[in-house]
Amino acid sequence: MYFTSRDVDSRVTSVLGIEGTAWNLSAAIVDENDVLAEATATYMPASGGIHPREAAQHHANHITGVIKKVLSRGIGIDAVAFSRGPGLGPCLRTVATAARAISLSSGVPLIGVNHCIAHIEVGRWKTQAVDPVTLYVSGANSQVLAFRAGRYRVFGETLDIGIGNALDKFARSVHLPHPGGPGIEELALKASRYIPLPYVVKGMDFSFSGLTTAAESSLCKASLEDVCFSLQETAFAMLVEVTERAVAHTGKGEVLLAGGVGANMRLREMLSIMCEDRGVRFYVPEKKFMGDNGAMIAHLGLLMLERGNTIAVEDSAVLPDFRPDDAEVTWR
Ligand code: AMP
Ligand code: MG
Repeated sequence: MYFTSRDVDSRVTSVLGIEGTAWNLSAAIVDENDVLAEATATYMPASGGIHPREAAQHHANHITGVIKKVLSRGIGIDAVAFSRGPGLGPCLRTVATAARAISLSSGVPLIGVNHCIAHIEVGRWKTQAVDPVTLYVSGANSQVLAFRAGRYRVFGETLDIGIGNALDKFARSVHLPHPGGPGIEELALKASRYIPLPYVVKGMDFSFSGLTTAAESSLCKASLEDVCFSLQETAFAMLVEVTERAVAHTGKGEVLLAGGVGANMRLREMLSIMCEDRGVRFYVPEKKFMGDNGAMIAHLGLLMLERGNTIAVEDSAVLPDFRPDDAEVTWR
């Protein structure tokens, strides 16, 4: 493997970021202005959902190629950042091992990034959002977050599975391809009626596993199109309700959408209606910055590097349950 660490007196700072918390292995180099290089390798399960050991094996098989590709442009790097958590332990450890090896062999600092916060920060970087309430909706995570008293606080979150996993699980049960979200979105457009499904919001938290089971059971009395539509309407209404209440509580004037499920046009429409009603601005980053990506890890790594927020290799154990509210925010 070949890479150049940057000359000490060079003016532009660049960071290599590596993401691999779940099914997407991705590396990117960013500087203050832009993404300079990026490469991705995506794990697709042969059947069923993500198998942590198989996903980690996929990342181990592809990480050299992915990193070589971004470094082949000859861009010098000032630090290497990796997703420290939350995520699947075997996947996190594979990525962390590569990041540590690069740090040690090239003499650049190592930075351990909180994956959820990286989604928010790349959204703030790539849109006009300054201080938003963020709805982060991905495969494994579903959270409503906002910056308050020096940290990213979780105002509401799933009590069981992430919305993406709920959609994928339902999709699998009706033999739609993985990941299931896009297929469900397409079928929902052909629906003719809404079937009532369990709407589960408890305080500021929500739950999806019962909803998925109920959707599967409804197939005996409704078409697949109607169930897909009803599943989306119910789940997204829950997410929008909690986001709206977080906006009301915090008094913030912006909402940011993050995570792979943010690709869904109906979810965007529902959020934009809520934001328009409340007179707050709604921001959606470009799709490639919404799902898991190396650029978001590199970008937050850069913000942390500027504040000296680096980590020694011996202290860099991965944190599969790393909560965003446990991360110190030094850059805001
Ligand atoms: P992430 O974990 O952020 O990479 O996002 C992956 C999740 O996004 C998977 O669960 C997908 O099913 C989901 N997803 C992708 N596109 C869509 C879509 N158009 N509608 C709903 N979910 C989607
Ligand atoms: Mg994610």
